[in-house]
Parts: sequence; C-alpha cells; structure tokens
Amino acid sequence: MNKYNRIVVKIGSSTLTYPNGALNLRRMDKIVEVLADIKNSGVQTVVVSSGAQAVGLGKLGFKEKPKEISAKQAIAAVGQCELMYIYDKLFSEYNHTVAQVLLTGDDIADGKRRGFVENTLFKLLDFGCIPIINENDTVAVDEIVSIGDNDTLSAIVSQLIGADLLVLMSDIEGLFDGNPRRSPDAKLIPVIDDLDLAASYCQGAGSALGTGGMDTKIGAAKIARDIGADMIIMDGSRPEKLYDAVEGRPCGTLFPFGNSR
Ligand code: GLU
Repeated sequence: MNKYNRIVVKIGSSTLTYPNGALNLRRMDKIVEVLADIKNSGVQTVVVSSGAQAVGLGKLGFKEKPKEISAKQAIAAVGQCELMYIYDKLFSEYNHTVAQVLLTGDDIADGKRRGFVENTLFKLLDFGCIPIINENDTVAVDEIVSIGDNDTLSAIVSQLIGADLLVLMSDIEGLFDGNPRRSPDAKLIPVIDDLDLAASYCQGAGSALGTGGMDTKIGAAKIARDIGADMIIMDGSRPEKLYDAVEGRPCGTLFPFGNSR
C-alpha cells in the first residue's frame, strides 16, 4: 500500500555517474525500473535530476571543471542532452513518457512565470508523463537568478505541485549525528523533525557538511515543513529502498512534516 500520492525524487550527480563523469548505467537502469514501477502502482512521480555538468565533462573528456562560465554552460548543454537521451530510452522500455523541464530562479521568482511552470507541470501529470527537471545550467548564471542546487530546486518543485513526499537520493544513507566517513561511531538518525538539531549535526569540523551537502538538504527540509510534506534522505546506490520510502517503511532519514506527522 502506498502512503503517498504525488512524489518528487531528486537524484544527485554522484548517484548517476562514476567519478569520471560517465553515466552509471546499471544504477540508472535500476532507478528507472523502480520509478516506473512506483508510477505504475498509481503514484504521480516527478524527477529532479542532476548530472548535466558531470555527464558533459565526462562526454567531452575534461579531467576537471573549466573556470570559464561559457565553457561550463556549454558543458551542461552537452550533458543535459545525453542525460535526457538515456532517461528517455530507459523509461520508454517500461512504456513511460518523460518530459524535460529546465528552470532558472527567475522562472520561480516571477509570479506569472511561476504560474506557467506550475500549469505545465500539472498538465504533464494529467498526460501521464514523468517530468524530469533540472536547473537550466546553460543560461542560469548570476545575471539570471540561479537556484544553485537541486536539493532546493526539488523542494521548490514539491511546493509547486503539492507533493506529499520529497525524496533526496544521495551518496549518503541519511542524516548522521556525526560524519560517518570520519567517525565510525556516527549513527544514522531514522526520524527527525527538529531542524535546528538536524542543522547542528551538519555543522563544524568532523560533520557531514562538507561531504554530504547536508546544509542544502536541511534547507529543502525547511520548505518541506512549510508545505506540510514528508521528506526522506536516502542512499541513491540502493534504489530499491524507494519502495520502502513510498510504502511508509523505515528508509534513510525521515523528516515527518506531512503524512507521517
Ligand atoms: N544542475 C546541476 C547539474 O545538472 C546539478 C546541481 C546540483 O546537483 O545541486 O549538473
């Protein structure tokens, strides 16, 4: 039995790619299979996918990120194209139609544009599509307000479509009370609703802040709290755990601000 009706799943770059930037196809295949199946079970599913820059770097054979803004933008254009090609191919195998939606901060900040984005997303869900959203990294520079990271973008998308669950698939199992990569005693927190306490686990030396990008995840949790949606941080290398997330079984760290409250 599903606990949620409309979910947003954010997939981080490190979940989708090998360290050299090439797509981790076995992982992507599994993620797409699970997402397609969850959609089949009746849950409206929206994906926020990172990876444009990582995949573009890999495809063009760059060993490191160039400094020049136009080069970064060009790299994202290449990577986004490759990313969507693979998503389209894999989801098509399960008879699902994907739709690419690329947003900038300006699309969200301006009420009228935000309304258009919202209407389009709802229309895509009506059509039975799986929207795959990313920041439009090819144009989103500082002059055009950028959202900056996909944890925040996925929380904003959850707000736009009234999602009841936001899942952040990451390279870490969830929120820990220390940095699990440095201190073996660090414990996974299964459920937490105190965001000040959650933030305190991410601060200072020896915390998960530098490695897990936990600060933006706490920011996303604040938005989830404001809109009354549950949020889960889970290990992206185990996509089958998404079933646990959607069916209400323990999975990673749950921020219970919606159905679980
Ligand atoms: N939009 C970026 C990309 O596709 C990812 C941003 C993020 O992971 O937070 O490369």
